[in-house]
Amino acid sequence: MRCAFASPFTNTPPYDAIQFTAPNDNSVTLSMVSTVRLTQFTDLHLYGDERGQLRGVTTLASLSVALEHARRGSWPPDALLITGDLVQDDPAGYAHVRRLFSSFRVPVLCLPGNHDEPEAMRRELSRSPFVTGGHLDLGPWRIVLLDSVIPGCAGGALSEASLVALDTVLGSAGNRHALVCLHHQPVPMSSQWLDRVGLANAQDFLAIIDRHPNVRGVIWGHVHQSFDALRNGVRLLATPSTCAQFLPRVEQFAVDARPPAYRTLELKPDGSIVTEVLWASVRSAESSVTAA
Ligand SMILES: [Zn+2]
Repeated sequence: MRCAFASPFTNTPPYDAIQFTAPNDNSVTLSMVSTVRLTQFTDLHLYGDERGQLRGVTTLASLSVALEHARRGSWPPDALLITGDLVQDDPAGYAHVRRLFSSFRVPVLCLPGNHDEPEAMRRELSRSPFVTGGHLDLGPWRIVLLDSVIPGCAGGALSEASLVALDTVLGSAGNRHALVCLHHQPVPMSSQWLDRVGLANAQDFLAIIDRHPNVRGVIWGHVHQSFDALRNGVRLLATPSTCAQFLPRVEQFAVDARPPAYRTLELKPDGSIVTEVLWASVRSAESSVTAA
């Protein structure tokens, strides 16, 4: 199977290997008029060995720094979101996720990235508060979790079954706004090396997004950098990692020396999103609001 595509945003990928987890029955009772507060952590890259390092960063320690930083803010949110690469090719790392995230008494929404083992992730995080696929309704919002992993490949794609399930779950959302979450970027990041390993069938994905006016945001990990754009009225968001970052807008891979980070999101009843990326060493932030 080819893992890198000359132009992942136009080529047709292999679809078959990926399964969408059937929508589950999760729903959390929040008033339909309340704001839903999420905190997103992404690309944890944990190892079973707590001293494990990725590009010079001890990933468990840097996650702990990000978590501590978040807990000093408005905590806990209504749910936590982890958008892939929970572990660095080491399923023993899921035990750390379970230990660190299970005590907050809010749903922890997880989806796999290219360094995860999706089956192991679902097995290790099979119990409450973890949700590892499908969707979750939180007050006036529906949060949809997609699996874009192609086993053995850095780039991703959504299977035909995932695309059909996405279309269905957006169509059945009633008057809820939708936030769609996945690991791989569905739009170019202006970074040649990174854009070779994005979502290969982004056109198919975006065609579904375009069919459903209730989609208010799409959010991903994978790119280890901050991104915030608007496409056809839909907020597009990427979030830096809780470990090492990638230098944005460069042709060749390069590490960015910025610290661990995470994102807070306020999903408003009118469909607007107020969001902020917080860097764990300094409490300075990129903050912005979109019109509804
Ligand atoms: Zn990653």
